[in-house]
Amino acid sequence: MGFRVTFWGVRGSIPCPGPNTVKYGGNTACLELRFDPDDRLIILDAGSGIRELAMSIMKRDLPRGPVKTKLFLTHTHWDHIMGFPFFTPIFIPNTELEIYGPVTYEEDTLDKIVGDQLRYRYFPVRLEELRAKIDYYHLKESDKDLGGGIHLRTKYLNHPILVLGYRFEFEGKVFCTMYDHEPFRNVFDADPSSQGYDAAAVQEGEIAAQEENQKVLEFFRGADLLLHDTQYTHAEYLKGKTGWGHSSFEWAINNAHRAGVKHLVLFHHDPERKDAELDALLEKYRAAVKGKSRMRVSVAQEGKTIEV
Ligand SMILES: [Zn+2]
Ligand SMILES: [Zn+2]
Repeated sequence: MGFRVTFWGVRGSIPCPGPNTVKYGGNTACLELRFDPDDRLIILDAGSGIRELAMSIMKRDLPRGPVKTKLFLTHTHWDHIMGFPFFTPIFIPNTELEIYGPVTYEEDTLDKIVGDQLRYRYFPVRLEELRAKIDYYHLKESDKDLGGGIHLRTKYLNHPILVLGYRFEFEGKVFCTMYDHEPFRNVFDADPSSQGYDAAAVQEGEIAAQEENQKVLEFFRGADLLLHDTQYTHAEYLKGKTGWGHSSFEWAINNAHRAGVKHLVLFHHDPERKDAELDALLEKYRAAVKGKSRMRVSVAQEGKTIEV
């Protein structure tokens, strides 16, 4: 008994197929979760990787009956929803799909954000023509019983729009996602020479950021498997990528270690990051961690399945 995670998309921002991304893959975020004993399926994010997951579902699930599943979106940035029109089960009668995700602006609805990709101006099929039954649910920070012994907790992360981190618990095992996420920072100008500098506000901002970062860490404490945003190296992060909503390898590794995570998987690779670079970074960080932490560190790779 247990559950496992399969990677169908591991990239951030935009698909980037080509000779430099053959090993780790070039699709944007999509994960398949499978739970024992009945092979129950839950999907996380609908990036371009969901197209291939759909093909796999057609072979694996459809012969057993209509596809009935839940799709959880971390957020609605395009790289996390762009594959939705290519998720074949939506064209098949009797498919039942529940889509959950956070919505940043009250006037926006999830069905509009996700479904409007199926308009003639973008795509040859309209949402109204789909044969599947699709229901949309706005998701906030919450605790949810998904039935069958699966428990879900969600937490808001730090990104330009609302993003949820997910924490799945099943049979005593824990799997967490921590993307797209950037460490909380002090929002006040900390330069004493600048106009309007307010030492008290800076100190308050510092404390607030630390508290928020601690809450995030507690959210994934003790996880058996943690999937963390590592779009940048620390040097890249400091050089112009601060405020873009993503984390560095160093931040992810340090925090995962502090939180007693058993297996950290580096995820949401920058589209510019070549396979050889990911190999070199993994080697470097594994060497840095060796002897100091019992935590396993690996790089998310398309087609790979990890037992939680
Ligand atoms: Zn993203
Ligand atoms: Zn994003």
